[in-house]
Amino acid sequence: MKTCSFDKLLPYLERGMALGTALNIMDWDANTAAPEEASEYTAKALGILSQEAFCALINPEVKEIIGQIDEESLSDKEKAILKKLKKEYKRSEAIPAEEMREFGELCSRATRVWQKAKQDNDFSIYAPYLEKLIAYKKKFAAYAKKGEEKLYDILLDEYEESFGMKELDRFFGKLKEEIIPLLKKVSEAEEIDDSFLYQEYEIEKQKEFNHFLAEYLGFDFKRGVIAESEHPFTTSWHNHDVRITTHYYKNNLTSAILSTIHESGHALYEQGVEDDLTQTLVGEGASCAMHESQSRFYENIIGRSQEFWEPLYPKLVETFPKQLMDVPLEKFVRALNKVKADLIRTEADELTYCLHIMVRYELEKQMIEEEASVKELPELWNQKYKEYLGVVPKEEKEGILQDVHWSMGDIGYFPSYALGNAFAAQIYHTMKKELPVEELLKQGRISEITKYLREHIHRYGALKEPRQLLKELTGEEFNPDYYIQYLKEKFEKVYHL
Ligand code: ZN
Repeated sequence: MKTCSFDKLLPYLERGMALGTALNIMDWDANTAAPEEASEYTAKALGILSQEAFCALINPEVKEIIGQIDEESLSDKEKAILKKLKKEYKRSEAIPAEEMREFGELCSRATRVWQKAKQDNDFSIYAPYLEKLIAYKKKFAAYAKKGEEKLYDILLDEYEESFGMKELDRFFGKLKEEIIPLLKKVSEAEEIDDSFLYQEYEIEKQKEFNHFLAEYLGFDFKRGVIAESEHPFTTSWHNHDVRITTHYYKNNLTSAILSTIHESGHALYEQGVEDDLTQTLVGEGASCAMHESQSRFYENIIGRSQEFWEPLYPKLVETFPKQLMDVPLEKFVRALNKVKADLIRTEADELTYCLHIMVRYELEKQMIEEEASVKELPELWNQKYKEYLGVVPKEEKEGILQDVHWSMGDIGYFPSYALGNAFAAQIYHTMKKELPVEELLKQGRISEITKYLREHIHRYGALKEPRQLLKELTGEEFNPDYYIQYLKEKFEKVYHL
């Protein structure tokens, strides 16, 4: 007989939430305001608080309560919270505490070594750490393995539930078939002139414009803050405190603008979660890929369109008259959509971005499933860049060493970026049938688009799974064809192919 009520869990959930909030605030501070030498000392406090936050939810008392709860009697929200909690248990119980601790230490050391390796452009000092990280990840996946399951599928599932190799192979296979030939045609077309974007643009004026832009997008400054950091990111502790960062460059106008739009997309999602869900385990975005679908929707699908810029561009010209007076809107928008196959993922354009992800996906698969040795990785990386993007890194820092993810133990994370793009295109396909998207943008009525996303996605937080959200909104299962179709239509038009 199961006799416990859900309410018994509440004090533990609240304590976990409070400690999680404290950790988030410290993380935000470390990335935006903390002085250079703080990190080593603050790390000690962070370590203790992290342990407390973990134990607030993962402990024998909570485990006993979970075992005694009668699930039949729960609301949807309670069921979703319990499901998430059970998943945490499954994950943490599979791995011996001692190994988890060793792995945590390895990751923080590996991240430091990776930084140095990147600085010195020397993969060999990082290679032994990466080798150990891969061994740990395989070992951890093996603990969770049931029957014929593949280890890499288990790792992928940690970041984006139920999107395994079978589906991703099909997805990336299509990209390979359709996008690589398209890229080839684009590369042979006349190059787009975007040199005017790289004149000198005063930082103070950029700041002013980016604040205006975030507000225009619907970012609520009463419930949010914008700051600066080396790498732009979004964080939130609840739907009334959502923080984003951007990064300004004196000789690049659109880097900050596109970052601001991207992070505002993440922020609108978090600010749009219902009050009833915020500060619970299901009070944030549904998954990494679903989150990325929102940021990419605002950044790429809307933020690089002519309709979006029609009402906004005069204000940008007014802010930078000297630099933009002679640049018509069409020229500005074309420059925003310039394609250039290049080496660095974070600077990639909309068309080549998914190819950068494909390289990483294939390499991770080789590391985990096909026993590729770490020594071979730089060469495999270069071969794939040559094959898919037609460029070869001359230095390891712009090749195998460019991303921080693996050093933090995140193997299996990259595909969620590509999935996010594909979710966005599928959502957009349905949205266009129900809303006059282009007209709304031209008239500056972007809030009606956000309202649509809020109603179908944002308000649910993680109450529903990404697959369910997609299905309910679009009426069909995940279908990457919309993404490929979107890219083809868009870039054939941009490049007059
Ligand atoms: Zn993002």
